[in-house]
Amino acid sequence: HDLCGGVVMIRPSNRAMGIEYAIRDVVLPARELEKQGIKIIKLNIGDPVKFDFQPPEHMKKAYCEAIMEGHNYYGDSEGDKELREAIVEREKKKNGVDITPEDVQVTAAVTEALQFIFGALIDGGEEILIPGPSYPPYVGLVKFYGGVPKAYKTIEEEGWQPDVDDMRRKVTDKTKAIAVINPNNPTGALYEKKTLQEIIDLAGEYDLPIISDEIYDFMTYEGKHVSPSSLTKDVPVIVMNGLSKIYFATGWRLGYMCFIDPENKLAEVREAIGKLARIRLCPNTPAQKAAIAGLRGPMDYLEEYMAKLKERRDYIYKRLNEMPGISTQKPQGAFYIFPKIEEGPWKSDKEFVLDVLHNAHVLFVHGSGFGEGGEMHFRSIFLAPVPVLEEAMDNLEKFMKERLG
Ligand code: PLP
Repeated sequence: HDLCGGVVMIRPSNRAMGIEYAIRDVVLPARELEKQGIKIIKLNIGDPVKFDFQPPEHMKKAYCEAIMEGHNYYGDSEGDKELREAIVEREKKKNGVDITPEDVQVTAAVTEALQFIFGALIDGGEEILIPGPSYPPYVGLVKFYGGVPKAYKTIEEEGWQPDVDDMRRKVTDKTKAIAVINPNNPTGALYEKKTLQEIIDLAGEYDLPIISDEIYDFMTYEGKHVSPSSLTKDVPVIVMNGLSKIYFATGWRLGYMCFIDPENKLAEVREAIGKLARIRLCPNTPAQKAAIAGLRGPMDYLEEYMAKLKERRDYIYKRLNEMPGISTQKPQGAFYIFPKIEEGPWKSDKEFVLDVLHNAHVLFVHGSGFGEGGEMHFRSIFLAPVPVLEEAMDNLEKFMKERLG
């Protein structure tokens, strides 16, 4: 026990206290400035619904109706049967996979799918290959369950494509799975089919499953998303997706995973995931009705939203590349850009982000918060309308000119 002011403090677990989440960590100093009455332009959190995006009307209506019609009970642990059928239809149509509703597990968004997967794969010491840089919960959750996140390189000059040679070098006898995040957060990369095929070949060689995070799959600009599930012959692929990004329903907390496993190598892992699903009872029941409406309904809203996002991407990409001391790749998917701090007085990317926050009043996330490969970079979202991005870029440009003399 620790003593604090004469009071015996109850100690929390090291496992929980070890969790870091950079995206939210930079919010505290920003709040302090806001308390002093300073306006901060927040380009740190990837939530489209905080900007001018909303779930489509037919989904909102279905959610409300589900509640009013009495769908307020505990559902099945694996998820609503009709929703799982709708997910099968979607995955077949997009990725040409051969699955049934039994191959689908509905979850409280991709985040819960990650908890289930790492909970079912890790006892202690197992290694999960993750992209570097990576969306922070991949590091945080793997560690929480006692595993070791091992980052494989992604190549900035090639639009942040995974370095499959490096991935191969990182495989050991403790490697348990390869995680692929495509389109990628934080880099905005869209992985090439050829690279994905190489990853599948590597996974096949070492009998590893692929964990495929496809939460941004329809959110691409020039190219189209390719899922490893559409390429695999025998390598098991666990696809994760949900309502948060392309259905613009982040707060509904609904998603799914499906198992594309032609040789049934994941049979026991699936049993473990089923157990984890049962002890958390079930996913949100009315949100699942809204998901059925979303998956089976029109997606024309996406065209308008993607046009807005493309305009914003083009704008921020141009402004950042024109600025002294900063260079950036053009994002091909999602709504993040991951520029490099080429020169300046800062010793670390966190120091840069805090300096920008205090003096240009724009909030970004420091690249090292996304783990290996993120050093001396920062992440910005481009969900905000162009006039907001313009103000942020004007402030940043003035700041960079001052700092670089
Ligand atoms: N996966 C990636 C790559 C993300 O960027 C995010 C959110 O930013 C998530 C998963 C979280 O998704 P969900 O809201 O479905 O938990």
